Amino acid sequence: MTLTKCWPGGKTRAFNLTYDDGVVQDIGMVELLNELGLKGTFNLNSQLMAEDFRWQHPCGMWVCRLGPEQAAALYEGHEVACHTLTHPDFSALSREAMLWEMGEDKRRLEALFGREIRGFALPFHHWSNLARSCAIECGFSYARISEESGAYRPPEDYYSWKAGIFHLNEGLDDYVEGFLQCENEMALGQIVGHSYDLDAIGDWETMAGHLRRISEDSDTVSMTNLELADYLRAMEQAVLSDGRLENRSSLPLWFRLNTERICLLPGESRQL
Ligand SMILES: [Zn+2]
Repeated sequence: MTLTKCWPGGKTRAFNLTYDDGVVQDIGMVELLNELGLKGTFNLNSQLMAEDFRWQHPCGMWVCRLGPEQAAALYEGHEVACHTLTHPDFSALSREAMLWEMGEDKRRLEALFGREIRGFALPFHHWSNLARSCAIECGFSYARISEESGAYRPPEDYYSWKAGIFHLNEGLDDYVEGFLQCENEMALGQIVGHSYDLDAIGDWETMAGHLRRISEDSDTVSMTNLELADYLRAMEQAVLSDGRLENRSSLPLWFRLNTERICLLPGESRQL
């Protein structure tokens, strides 16, 4: 008998796309995701959105934030997460400033979107134990950092969550190919980036092709970063004892028993 843990629906692979900064090109990305039936995680800076902040990309293009009203309508059905108020470099911030940048962004996004915001994504690259403890203190369920894992596995630490691969990484094609063939238990593929990059390089087709292939894979489920965190935590509460498998979590959990897909509802148990 072989028992393996699975993602929702009994799928062996989960995929997450997570894009930062809430820029106008997200309109095109959300349209693409909606067309393909995929869910994304979008990490927003509420103050920069309210201030209509813009900056000039080295290619000459102006990178513009979505306005608050535009954003509230656009991201329906996708996860919205905190990316701080003003996108500061964390190496220069005191503990109080970090708590303000994280906590106040969370509060403003919650007011704008009318839902609880439980995810955090680091602006720039400087993560630390101090920043990690602030993310926990602010009540986030996970903190995604900027480092890539290059791997197909769940994070070792929810509060130092390494992204799978950056979308401009030249290894992206191989990463997606490897993901679609990955047979690891609970394989996880994750692509991070900014939609303005796709305008800057003048290539949406490559990303659209990858997302289309992923959406057509029958053994892959699309999940937001928060859904991943919640499901992984729930799976930690699956207990196998004396041949009896019990779901002690509050979410339905999926497994494969040899080749049979089984789902245990919260509180349910099954003799194997
Ligand atoms: Zn950013």
